[in-house]
Amino acid sequence: DLTARNADLKALIRTIPDYPIPGIQFRDVSTLLLDGAGFRATIDRLAAMIEAEEVDLIAGIEARGFIVAAALSYALGKGKVMLRKKSKLPGATVGIDYALEYGTDRIEMHLGAVKAGQRVLLVDDLLATGGTALAGAALLRGQGAIVDKAMFIVDLPDLGGAQRLTEAGIEPITLLV
Ligand code: AMP
Repeated sequence: DLTARNADLKALIRTIPDYPIPGIQFRDVSTLLLDGAGFRATIDRLAAMIEAEEVDLIAGIEARGFIVAAALSYALGKGKVMLRKKSKLPGATVGIDYALEYGTDRIEMHLGAVKAGQRVLLVDDLLATGGTALAGAALLRGQGAIVDKAMFIVDLPDLGGAQRLTEAGIEPITLLV
């Protein structure tokens, strides 16, 4: 299966227990990012899981999502939009508040960055409860974008994010659990 095929990449991601709060097993992709061949393989394999023709624009979620989104943007030859944490963008913004696995947050994007009818591929490093991705999708859909696919390196299936995305009409595409 997928995770067995990508076991080499999974081995590069370390788990830090009880971060940022007790009970959370933090899947730390910083160790994967340190490995040049591993990161290249990560992006190559993600890029191979989607047709470039199905995507008009890539949306990366701050901060680790930017790293994956930027590399995928290069690999697929598509532009990208930054979904940023609150008050980081200089232009006029539209935003949405959402609940996290730990705490709450807000993401914003520049008004006019996405055109109605554009097919936007949502990208982050990891899918947990799906709250972040669903907030991103709601933000983009509010601007008229079509969001029917989202890409992650890691899925934590026990947290139900893939199920929630599917129910919202978004196909989750992930490399490993
Ligand atoms: P969620 O909104 O619950 O799907 O959480 C996904 C977002 O929170 C992503 O941006 C992840 O980087 C981060 N995140 C949530 N849980 C974890 C975890 N256990 N390990 C690493 N990152 C996590």
